[in-house]
Amino acid sequence: MGIINNKATDPNKILPLTYPWAREHYKTGVSNNWVPEEIAMQKDVEQWKSASALSEKERRLILWNLGFFSTAESLTANNIVMAIYRHVTNSEARQYLLRQAYEEAVHTDTFIYCCDTLGLDPDHIYNMYNTIPSIKEKDDFVVNLTESIFDPDFTTAGTANIQRFIHDLIGYYVIMEGIFFYAGFAMMIALRRQNKMVGVGEQFEFIMRDESVHLAFGCDLINTIKKENPGAWSGSFAEQVTDLVRQAVVLEKRYAYDACPDGLLGINADQFSLYVEHIADRRLERIGLSKMYGTENPFPWLSESTDLNKEKNFFETRVTEYQTAGNLVWDD
Ligand code: FE
Ligand code: MN
Repeated sequence: MGIINNKATDPNKILPLTYPWAREHYKTGVSNNWVPEEIAMQKDVEQWKSASALSEKERRLILWNLGFFSTAESLTANNIVMAIYRHVTNSEARQYLLRQAYEEAVHTDTFIYCCDTLGLDPDHIYNMYNTIPSIKEKDDFVVNLTESIFDPDFTTAGTANIQRFIHDLIGYYVIMEGIFFYAGFAMMIALRRQNKMVGVGEQFEFIMRDESVHLAFGCDLINTIKKENPGAWSGSFAEQVTDLVRQAVVLEKRYAYDACPDGLLGINADQFSLYVEHIADRRLERIGLSKMYGTENPFPWLSESTDLNKEKNFFETRVTEYQTAGNLVWDD
């Protein structure tokens, strides 16, 4: 028994299932299927080309988010395929990882589509992870956090290695996908609510919905490894994890202030900071740790309003129906 280090696992035998939750996340992923080309960009192109539709601050915020996500998505895809897949040998968990890898390819495609339709300079967008310090700091933080499992000699044998593996999974799932994506989601969806760059905003909503499932899978994976290897989750290890989350929150706030320095109509970096604290608490609780901030959600509309839009969009714009209402899972 075990989701890692199980010599008895035959990775080609998916039935009978040991972890039905992994299969459920797979099915949710499939029912959320979408591709960026389904979303019209005409209005966005008009606004982007117009001299007056968007302020300089809004343009900067949009570029910062496209810059961060364009490279963060492929970083995540590489993590799954090159590192996590090798160590998680259970079949239904691997089936989910393949689904997630596909979704990351769709997300990568989304930013190609945005660059193409808006006529953005790819050298500018795809170099922001080198040229913009607050973006570089987030990417560097995750790359450093997840060094061990990229080591070709790394195995998950023994308590110290299991801790390293959990530590790296927290880097990918809880910090990258669970914290570093969320100020950007809030910014782009806030703009969308003001009818600015609605196509890009809708794509961010679809990505956010996918990411909420990635995060749920990641936390279930972490919690399963914890349960199956109780010696790995010591008090000092839990403190170390909490401290990583604290550092990640600092970086994500810095990013929010950098992308949105003086505030825009109805939204400002202080609110994004509160939102980051709120979601960091939710992530800590999700992996069995105490919350740190006790901050209320400054954007209660973020999950609810996007649920409604989504359903409306699906019925208005789609021929195919991938989505059923019962599968809308949000974890903001
Ligand atoms: Fe993604
Ligand atoms: Mn993801």
